[in-house]
Amino acid sequence: MQFSLIKGFRYIKRNIINKVLNNNIFHSYLFFGKKGNPSLSFVIIFSTYVNCTNKSILDSCGTCYSCLSIFNFNNSSIFFIFPFIKNNPIPSIKKWKNFLHSEVYGNSFDWINYLNLNNKNLTIPLEKSKDIFKYINSNIESKYKIVIIWLPEYMNAHTSNSVLKIIEEPSKNVIFFLVSLNISKILPTLLSRLNIINVSLFKDKYINLIISDRYNLKNNHIFQITNISKGNLNKIIKLSKNVNFFNNSFNYFIEWMRVCYSHDFLNIVEYSFFFSKMKKEVQISFLSYIVFMFRNILLYNFYYKDLCNISNSSRRFLKKISKILYLNKIEILISKIEKMYLFIERNVNSKIIYLNLSLEISFTFKNNIF
Ligand SMILES: [Zn+2]
Repeated sequence: MQFSLIKGFRYIKRNIINKVLNNNIFHSYLFFGKKGNPSLSFVIIFSTYVNCTNKSILDSCGTCYSCLSIFNFNNSSIFFIFPFIKNNPIPSIKKWKNFLHSEVYGNSFDWINYLNLNNKNLTIPLEKSKDIFKYINSNIESKYKIVIIWLPEYMNAHTSNSVLKIIEEPSKNVIFFLVSLNISKILPTLLSRLNIINVSLFKDKYINLIISDRYNLKNNHIFQITNISKGNLNKIIKLSKNVNFFNNSFNYFIEWMRVCYSHDFLNIVEYSFFFSKMKKEVQISFLSYIVFMFRNILLYNFYYKDLCNISNSSRRFLKKISKILYLNKIEILISKIEKMYLFIERNVNSKIIYLNLSLEISFTFKNNIF
């Protein structure tokens, strides 16, 4: 992977390149940010750049043996540590590499789903720190040996202390990269030994470019994905792969709101069942769309009519619906829907969740005629 693959983030790129070119690389880093940020990509790009034998002042060459083998995740200079599920066999490195190829912006739930297991208790046990110790003392030939720990928040106290000990006694030409989505769960003493880099989400202008480059989508779909995803590249990829859902989402939204408004409980149950049967990725896309529409209802109502990033037909609908909703309850609904993502990611029975949500939406309507 090369810097050119990530749009934007000029400050982080410049910082990494300068450190490498000035031979001023720290021994251990923590990259972190919200779900859908490119931290894992950055540490792989950093690893590629540092070991590239023909690097320029802008990027790795992409063609030397080191670059090509890292691109194929077949380079022994990188040692990956990743969480796995308690009381289950450790996933093969091949499986992990396939996951990296398909979901480099993924999170723990994507990993669990990829493993296709129902148990959700991820861990990085103490044995893994012993593996790190063995690796950094091995005879692998490369300029730098690199250890990448993905989601160190799943290390238990024993593992964390053991990794801390290894990091505190740096071996020559070894770089540690920890990539976290939740630094509040990392041992504070370990955190204090790491050089921390906060990686933001993608800006809208880059999301447009990313989608246009990767997917052959219509402009209105790119526009919707950009507005719904809020910079989360994991979500962008899922939305882009399920773009057909956009063709129906507006109609589903209208019909769902109608049955909620009319307290049509039979149809509420049917809709809840229907939504819960959709593919998980489509459900998350749909809920993101609902949040997007509710936010636009608020914007519309508070006279920011020009800020609503929606089509004309959606705008006409917003005008009608914003008059018959208790708007002070919409923020509560939005926060409930955002929590639903987690339940759906965890494979909780979503029929009940949709049913509860539908009933709450029903009570958010005033008694006017729709
Ligand atoms: Zn190279």
